[in-house]
Amino acid sequence: MIQTQPIISEKSLSTRLIGEISGQEKGPTFILFGGIHGNEPAGILALERVFDDLKKYSLPIKGKIYGIRGNLKGLSARKRFLDHDLNRLWTNSNIPIIRNKAPEERSVEEAELMEIYALLKEILDTNTAPFYFIDIHTTSSRTVPFITINDALINRRFSRCFPLPVVLGIEEYLHGPLLSYINERGYLAVGIESGQHDAVEAVDNAISFIWIALVSAELIPASELPELKVHYHKLKNATYGNRSFYEILSRRELFPGDQFKMEEGFQSFEKIPEGILLAEHNGEEILAPKDSIIFMPLYQVLGKEGFFFIRKIPIWALRVSEVLRKFKWDNFFSLFPGVSWTANKESLKVNIKIAKFFRKPIFHLFGYRRGVLEGNKVVMSNRESKSKKDMYKHTAWFRRK
Ligand SMILES: [Zn+2]
Repeated sequence: MIQTQPIISEKSLSTRLIGEISGQEKGPTFILFGGIHGNEPAGILALERVFDDLKKYSLPIKGKIYGIRGNLKGLSARKRFLDHDLNRLWTNSNIPIIRNKAPEERSVEEAELMEIYALLKEILDTNTAPFYFIDIHTTSSRTVPFITINDALINRRFSRCFPLPVVLGIEEYLHGPLLSYINERGYLAVGIESGQHDAVEAVDNAISFIWIALVSAELIPASELPELKVHYHKLKNATYGNRSFYEILSRRELFPGDQFKMEEGFQSFEKIPEGILLAEHNGEEILAPKDSIIFMPLYQVLGKEGFFFIRKIPIWALRVSEVLRKFKWDNFFSLFPGVSWTANKESLKVNIKIAKFFRKPIFHLFGYRRGVLEGNKVVMSNRESKSKKDMYKHTAWFRRK
C-alpha cells in the first residue's frame, strides 16, 4: 500500500511560526521555511516533527532555530498560490511597491510576503551571526531529493555537507525567489526539493536534511545525535549516491494562458535521448533537441517553467572557479576594451560583442550568472561580491577543502 502524508491541521495553519528554540549557549541563527508554495506541505510536516523532537529530547543547542510557515492561505486552500507565486515576488523593485500599498490593496501573497518580511527583519535584528536560511520545497514530478542554490561559494560549500545532487544557477532563470533575495543580502541560503509533493518520502527526506544541516552548521554536536548516520545514509540511498553538481542550460518558459502538457513519466535528472517527445506546448509537439538531462518537468497546472535542461559540471571546473573567485581574478575582465565596473564595483558592464567573445561558461566560472541588457551592454552581476564570507569563515564546513 502506498503511504500518504498526514494532513496539516487547520490549527497549525493559524500561526506563522512552527517553532522557535533558543539554545543554552549563543551561536548561529538557523532559519527554515516550509510551504512557501501552498501545495507543498512536506516541509512543514518535517519541521513540526523536528521541533517536537528538539523539545522532547532537550538536545544541547548552541544558537537559535526558527521554523516558518510560508503561504498560509495557499496551504489552507492546498494551492501553490492564490493570486501570485509567493516565491517570485522577492525582487528589489517589487518589495518597496508592496510595502507602500495600503494593507487592503495587497493581494493574498503580497500580504503573506509582508508578514514574512517583518519576521525576517526582526530575526536579523535580534540574533547573532552566522545566519543560515533553508527553504524546503517539493516537485510535481517524481524526483530524487536535491539541492538548488544561487552560485556563491558559501552556498556551494555548505551544500557539500549533504549526500545530494546540487543544481547551481537557478538565479539566471527565476525572478524573485525568496532565497535569491536572502542571498543578495550576503547570507547563506540553500533550497532543498525533498521529493514529490505528497510522497511520504518527501517528509522523511526533509527531516534527514534538517538534522544534517543543524549538525553541519554546528548548532548540535554530532556526538549528541546517534541517528545522524541513519539520516545520512537515507539521503545517500535516496539519490543512488548522486552528489554531482549540475548547472541549468535552458528552460521551457510558460506564459499566462499557455496550454502545456508534459508527457507522462519523466523525472528530474533523467537522461533523455535526442528526438524523444517531451511535451505539447500550445498545440506544438516539443522534442528533445539533443541527448540531455531533464530537470523539474511540470505535472501541475500552476507554474512558469515547463521543464529545464541541465548538465553535470566537471569537478575541475568547480575547482578552477573556486580559485578564480578566491583571488578575485574577475578584475582581469575590466582590462578589456568594452568592459567596465559599475559604480559600486559589484557588477560588470560588458559590451555585447565582448560578452559573446567570452561566452557564458567563462563568466560562470567567475560566478557571473545574471545579465541584464542595457542598450548595447550587458550588466552582469555575481553572488560572490555580496557574500558575507567572513561570517562563515570559522566554521568547519567553510574551511573544509
Ligand atoms: Zn515549491
